[in-house]
Amino acid sequence: MQKIPMFINGEWVHADGEEILHVTNPSTGEVLAQIINASEAQVNEAVRAARSAFESEEWRQVKAFERGQLLVACARYIRLHAEEWSLLECRDVGKPLTQARADIEAAARYFEFYGGAADKIMGDTIPIEDGLLNAVVLEPVGITVHIVPWNYPIQITARSVAAAIATGNAVIVKSAEDTPLTTHAMTEWFADKLPKGIFQHITGLGRDVGPYLTAHPDINHITFTGSVPTGIAVMKAAAENVVPVTLELGGKSPNIVFADASMEQAMEGVLRAIIQNAGQTCSAGARLLIEERAKESFIAQLVEKFQALTVGPGEADVDMGPLLNERQYSKISALLQQAKDDGYVITGGKTLTIAGYENGYYIEPTILDGVDANHALAQEEIFGPVLTVLTFTTVEEAITLANSTDFGLVAGVWSKDLDTAHYVASRVKAGQVFVNNYGAAGGIQMPFGGYKKSGIGREKGFVALRNYTQMKNIAIRYAPPNLT
Ligand code: NAD
Repeated sequence: MQKIPMFINGEWVHADGEEILHVTNPSTGEVLAQIINASEAQVNEAVRAARSAFESEEWRQVKAFERGQLLVACARYIRLHAEEWSLLECRDVGKPLTQARADIEAAARYFEFYGGAADKIMGDTIPIEDGLLNAVVLEPVGITVHIVPWNYPIQITARSVAAAIATGNAVIVKSAEDTPLTTHAMTEWFADKLPKGIFQHITGLGRDVGPYLTAHPDINHITFTGSVPTGIAVMKAAAENVVPVTLELGGKSPNIVFADASMEQAMEGVLRAIIQNAGQTCSAGARLLIEERAKESFIAQLVEKFQALTVGPGEADVDMGPLLNERQYSKISALLQQAKDDGYVITGGKTLTIAGYENGYYIEPTILDGVDANHALAQEEIFGPVLTVLTFTTVEEAITLANSTDFGLVAGVWSKDLDTAHYVASRVKAGQVFVNNYGAAGGIQMPFGGYKKSGIGREKGFVALRNYTQMKNIAIRYAPPNLT
């Protein structure tokens, strides 16, 4: 069993009396690795080391283009080890290998993208008056904390860490207690490439270790990706020290299908949007809003497609892997049992036993119909392969339904009519709207984040670099030199 050390102040920190936690493979239920539940003293030491590294002359002297080159080299390394890292992610999260491979490539793309951006992050000059040069300078914020969830560990670590290093910060990553493997692999690469204290990896239970980090008075920014309740707790802790946060939280994203859409295209989009990573995706298309007159045939075909999906261990590279852990499995199977009793399940709804993998956390891909739009099943994030169907007859009704939850992360609009597509896209309250597609192939370059309770701020793209810089205005008075 792999023993995963933390990386603090340039040193590997192995377990020494601290509490040990086990990491399991969701496909088999077997223990894969063990991690340390970090102590408050260890977190404090990481923050102290980050401060010292950030303020050091050594780090100040690393040029922007050199930081960029380092990130691009990391991308190259990730690609060289793509198969090995894909297997780590597949075993840690349970996701099918093809999806794990896509995550590894996305991580490489983040390092490449922000590596390329590192020496192109420019300030501005502002015309005031003769004799006054006014410059707007973008400086790194300092110590950035990155709290990562378990569903896309490598992608979510890469997207904010790459942007923070590109802009010259000292980063502390807290991986999710269930999925530390690829963050550890990334740490191994960074270990001897950066001054000690610039990249650190902390492990442990969020409820224990998280508050040590988020309430620390000497950090300068928190990027948190996770659930809404935890996001609120993180924001409250940060508020005590007036530390800014970027919050990427949950969703209940709609796919809005009009009767004039290409049904084949829409169906494939709807299906992939909910079964990817067994529905454990913040931007999962968890609600299907379908125009009444297209419903019967669309749902009949969709049910057939759901029933044809293969479910099994990630390494078998099936359509859908298991849920992450016992907690998710018990929660979602209980919820599905209730939905079945209430008559909402039109396909799926049961747990699955896979021969040879009896301790894995498998459930059937599920469609629910007949649920009221205000019901919890249509309002709350389930975080599993469960699609809730709602019906509309007018464009306005579709928009009202789309906007009827507390979330606003992503929306899909499927229609061949230009007016319908543009109008709906303009009225939907979501950070990203996809027309006749869902996900835009990962969209490393596209700003991503939520309206409403789906979050604060944006990640991905150039705009995310602003999270990790602060603006300084410098006004310089000068006078004609006296040369005599
Ligand atoms: P979570 O909120 O339970 O945990 C997320 C991270 O926060 C983990 O590293 C956890 O250890 C840590 N944590 C837990 N309690 C903490 C605390 N009190 N203080 C600080 N950190 C703490 O979420 P999860 O179950 O790991 O992930 C699933 C959720 O994440 C879903 O709601 C999903 O929608 C959301 N998510 C959002 C995005 C996005 O980009 N919007 C991406 C992935 C996941």
